[in-house]
Amino acid sequence: MQNNFDTVNVLGLDFIKASQTQFLDQLKRDSQTKARRFVVTANPEIVLAAKKDQKYAQTLKSADYITADGIGIIKGAKILGDPLPERVTGYDTLLALLSFANKHHKRVFFLGAKPAVLQQVLTKVATNYPAITIAGSCDGYFKDEAKVAEQIKKAEPDFVFVALGFPKQEFFIAKYQDLASAIWMGVGGSFDVLSGQTKRAPKWWIDHHLEWAYRLLKEPSRFIRMLALPKYLLLIYRKKYFKH
Ligand code: UDP
Repeated sequence: MQNNFDTVNVLGLDFIKASQTQFLDQLKRDSQTKARRFVVTANPEIVLAAKKDQKYAQTLKSADYITADGIGIIKGAKILGDPLPERVTGYDTLLALLSFANKHHKRVFFLGAKPAVLQQVLTKVATNYPAITIAGSCDGYFKDEAKVAEQIKKAEPDFVFVALGFPKQEFFIAKYQDLASAIWMGVGGSFDVLSGQTKRAPKWWIDHHLEWAYRLLKEPSRFIRMLALPKYLLLIYRKKYFKH
């Protein structure tokens, strides 16, 4: 990873010490200078997945920026004594970059999510961000990966948003990022939210750092995934008190 930000190590991953605004300013500069960038917005689940899978850890470490997506990362950094300024979420970053892309007539490639969700995203983008050129798109259930890569290359995008969920999206970006001098970002379930299929928590829940609880209420099937949170906190405390 090479960038201008100081970083904070949380269980093996280096998170940038940047506010949402500072990070967006950096990405906008990167975009205007046509730099190729790989952005990871990581939550505790991703941190745990990287601890378990060496290949995934290496892939994440090759990213240009890892941001703190989720209150768990902010809390973890604080407990470890090296706090991060604030959350820099994939969804907020995606919306801000779409506005930027609209203002500067950029080319955007949308990859991922179910076909119907992707269609709704494209319609929304065409309506709300009319100056964006939709350079190309492909839903996330493709068979021929090489063909998708070729499609991205031909599209010459300024931004590639990859909504395949982790770890797929990061593996995909790491493998193909050299095909376009673009900002490549894994955005997880953001297309589902953007399309209106999944509702983001109301502001009160977000402000009280309870977005995770809201999601759990709406999608109880996420319970197993959420067991990652207490496990993550245990590892944080182990690191704090036993230094390993
Ligand atoms: N997805 C996809 N292809 C796949 C697996 C998942 O396009 O092979 C999409 C899925 O439709 C959803 C997103 O990836 O839009 C993952 O959402 P999830 O909420 O699991 O992501 P998270 O934000 O938790 O990483």
